Amino acid sequence: MASEKEAALTATPSDAPTIFDKIISKEIPSTVVYEDDKVLAFRDITPQGPVHILLIPKVRDGLTGLSKAEERHIDILGRLLYTAKLVAKQEGLDEGFRIVINDGPQGCQSVHHIHVHLIGGRQMNWPPG
Ligand code: ADP
Repeated sequence: MASEKEAALTATPSDAPTIFDKIISKEIPSTVVYEDDKVLAFRDITPQGPVHILLIPKVRDGLTGLSKAEERHIDILGRLLYTAKLVAKQEGLDEGFRIVINDGPQGCQSVHHIHVHLIGGRQMNWPPG
């Protein structure tokens, strides 16, 4: 299987459906930890820590990545981050956590439906790889 970096380098930043559409529609199973009418949060299939959750907007609305954000996306961007805080609390990450939004090939983004990574449950390092 291709590495995450290879997948990011070959991913096409387009409006084509992504695997996250199938997760939203429940066509592909996922472990959902939070859901409301706008946001879905589920466990990452390749966790980078004891807790690794992805938060996504249920409607992509052109937001393939953060670099594509427009003013109309301000509300959903705020909602994603606020929900990340709620889920961090729900997961018991009281000692801290890491929020990551990968963008584009150099940011190692492989799925072109904006998503916030919430990672926690271990000591993080800086700088990231
Ligand atoms: P990268 O793949 O380099 O981490 P992204 O920021 O685009 O780049 O992250 C996509 C994330 O989606 C990855 O962490 C990957 O493990 C996760 N993922 C892919 N398919 C699934 C799935 N079916 N269920 C849960 N998580 C998934």
